Amino acid sequence: MIATVTKSMSNDVFNVQKVRDEFPILDQEINGHPLVYLDNAATTQKPNAVIEAISDYYRGYNSNVHRGAHSLSDRATVAFEHARDTVAKFVCSPKKEQVIWTRGTTEAINLVAHSWGRNNIGAGDKILVSTLEHHSNIVPWQILAEEMGAQLIPIPILTTGDIDIPAFSALLDERVKMVSVGHVSNALGTVNPLKNIISAAHAVGAKVFIDGAQAVAHFPVDVQALGCDFYGFSGHKLFGPTGIGVLWGREALLNEMPPYHGGGEMIESCSFSGTTFNVLPYKFEAGTPDIAGVIGLAAAIDYLNTLDRNAIIAHERDLLTYCHQLAEKCSGLKRVGEAENIAGVFSFLLDGAHPSDVGMLLDQQGVAVRTGHHCAQPLMEALNVPGTVRASFSMYNTREDVERFFAALEKVKQFI
Ligand code: PLP
Repeated sequence: MIATVTKSMSNDVFNVQKVRDEFPILDQEINGHPLVYLDNAATTQKPNAVIEAISDYYRGYNSNVHRGAHSLSDRATVAFEHARDTVAKFVCSPKKEQVIWTRGTTEAINLVAHSWGRNNIGAGDKILVSTLEHHSNIVPWQILAEEMGAQLIPIPILTTGDIDIPAFSALLDERVKMVSVGHVSNALGTVNPLKNIISAAHAVGAKVFIDGAQAVAHFPVDVQALGCDFYGFSGHKLFGPTGIGVLWGREALLNEMPPYHGGGEMIESCSFSGTTFNVLPYKFEAGTPDIAGVIGLAAAIDYLNTLDRNAIIAHERDLLTYCHQLAEKCSGLKRVGEAENIAGVFSFLLDGAHPSDVGMLLDQQGVAVRTGHHCAQPLMEALNVPGTVRASFSMYNTREDVERFFAALEKVKQFI
């Protein structure tokens, strides 16, 4: 075990085995083989701190928030609002009121498309999204564009999987009202040059939404330094629970936006002659929220904050570099997406094999990957591939995982 630890450590400061020890799910066999979990872009695993925080809430202080006149409700409310502070600091938000709880990235985008979009997009306006996007960052804008008589325009990409920046610049004019792009592509791992994209979009008066679903687990995010107008992410891709996520927005924009959902908690007063709405962030948080999810997400961030994030970046970079080295020696393997700046993802095809067969044969050897279009069908079409096999890495993966993955791929080749 010690030998494995030493071998798995990619640098002096990051003790990957210590991190793995906090993730109980990783220590198991799948189909008679030690689990190699390489499906982190789909969802990350949860550390003990998160599992315990959720359990403590349900065992010790389960209660509704903001409304109870009793101690348990006070405790739940304090934890719930403290979590908002934690997230605000995590993304460097000027104020905690700019952090809106959602069910995930998908709901964050739908909220903005619905609330901001229906009030700011008109006939003939343009919405730009990149060809790299997850369907979550396409379909809400498509629905909006159809409803308002606007145009949804894809920003082209290069064969490397980078956004074609000159082509993007050429699409910009004063009719562009929204540019919505991912921070990191879920299918290829491309890290987009956001500062350039955001400043160019702002120069024509457009607002910018950043889909941060695939970014937050890999490196620190500072919404003020980025200069975006909205930023969304999901708790479950950040070592937190499913069903909870965040929309961050500029205060002035959020204040101008009408509510997305109606119901309890989002009103200031309600009568049959008319209803007035609550202040931020509650205006956007109708109904009983996912209290356990919020508490679990804050626990995930608190846990991540105990680690050296620069060391995580170095460790994950080492894993990807090692993966690329072994890929070069793997006959019949073709990488899909070769952008210079990549986080967490290795997408590929194997000669003569359908991605889903590769995934199934890897699973038989304990290696969990994702196959298919990765909810990015327009991207697959642009790259002219039926789908890919995607191995996606997280901070708890090791060089040994990479070796097991390639050893399993060699066996896959014997079957195809
Ligand atoms: N955006 C990207 C880039 C994603 O990878 C995903 C999920 O895979 C989403 C959005 C949607 O996230 P969720 O399903 O958590 O709302």
